[in-house]
Amino acid sequence: MVDARELFKALCPDPRCAETFSGVYELFYWLEGVLEELPEPRLSGAGQPLASGVENREEVAEALRLRGVEDEALVDYAIARLVSRRYKGVPSRGRCPVCGQVPTLLVLREKPGISFSTPELRARCICGYEGEAGDFTCPNCGAAGRENFEVYIAPQGSLKVFECRSCGFRFAEVRGDALEERELQALHGALRLLLKLGGGEARGRGAAPGGTR
Ligand SMILES: [Zn+2]
Ligand SMILES: [Zn+2]
Repeated sequence: MVDARELFKALCPDPRCAETFSGVYELFYWLEGVLEELPEPRLSGAGQPLASGVENREEVAEALRLRGVEDEALVDYAIARLVSRRYKGVPSRGRCPVCGQVPTLLVLREKPGISFSTPELRARCICGYEGEAGDFTCPNCGAAGRENFEVYIAPQGSLKVFECRSCGFRFAEVRGDALEERELQALHGALRLLLKLGGGEARGRGAAPGGTR
C-alpha cells in the first residue's frame, strides 16, 4: 500500500517539497469528488481525442467555476476525466484516445487467477484511461529494453521512476492493488508534477543535467 504522504517525504529532502506534493495530491483527491457533481459530458462525435469533442464543455466549465475551479488546465483535466470514466475500453492507437496525452503512470496489479494470480501492467494516462503497457517500453517514443532506461526505486519499492535514454521522457510505476481509484488519481497528479520537475532533487543525486524542463 502506498501511503502518499510517507512517499512524498521519502522522495523530498526538503519539507516544503513534500508539502507541495501533498497539496497537489489533496487537490486531485478533492477534484475526484467534484466530478460526481458535474454534468455528464456529451460527445459530438467519435473523433479522437474524445475529450476535444465535448459539446457541452461550457456547461461543465461553468459548474467547475461555481466550485472555484477556473484554471483552464484543470477544466481540461476534469473534462478528460469525466470522458475517461464514461468511455472505458475505447481502443487505443498510440496516444490516449480520450485526451491525446502520453501515459505517465504504469500500474502493476495482481490479476486473480484460478489457482494463482499473475501480475498485469497497464499504462495509465492522467485522465485515467488505461491501455496496454510493455515491460521496459517507453510510452512516448516506443524505445524498448531495460538498458534504455534509468530507473530510480523509491524506499520500500513502492514507486519506480523511469527515464527514457532515447527521448528523455519520464514516467512512474506504482502497485495499484491497494489503491482506490480516487487515491490512484491523486497520486498520479502529484507524481506527474514530480516527473515534470525533472526529479533532480527528488532523486537524491543533485541537480539533473540540463536542469528542469
Ligand atoms: Zn488521457
Ligand atoms: Zn522514449
